[in-house]
Amino acid sequence: MPPSVSPGRAAARVDDLVRQLRARGHRLTPQRLAVLRVLADSTDHPSAEQVYQRLRPTYPMLSPATVYKTIDVLKAMGQILELEFREGANRYDVNIPVSHPHLVCTSCGRLEDFDVAELDRLAERAAAATGFRVLRHRLDFYGLCPACRDDRAD
Ligand SMILES: [Zn+2]
Repeated sequence: MPPSVSPGRAAARVDDLVRQLRARGHRLTPQRLAVLRVLADSTDHPSAEQVYQRLRPTYPMLSPATVYKTIDVLKAMGQILELEFREGANRYDVNIPVSHPHLVCTSCGRLEDFDVAELDRLAERAAAATGFRVLRHRLDFYGLCPACRDDRAD
């Protein structure tokens, strides 16, 4: 089972997204709403394919296109963080839609948040030192998660 967000927090995030989608004139089908729910309920940064697979038992008529379209709309609204990987599928975080650091397991693909308190200050320093206006950043720590590390221990 993927780790999940507390039910109250996930529900509040879904309500927030529904409000924003309606305000922009988007139609909310039961399938789209279900996609929002899975995204808001997940802390494991699922891929679009994983979202689709989690919904298929309950929504056999759901098409992968609905998942992709819903994610595209959220992206256009700046309400989902997309993490691209050269190898493997893009992964998504609808709960923290702004740049934030992650830990990535190179063996099983586990992906979790890791709070780096100094990061905002570092971004400001980079901007001040270079004249760049920093719009986003990407910090990933790659390695083996505890389960994969134990598997490899001799
Ligand atoms: Zn994240």
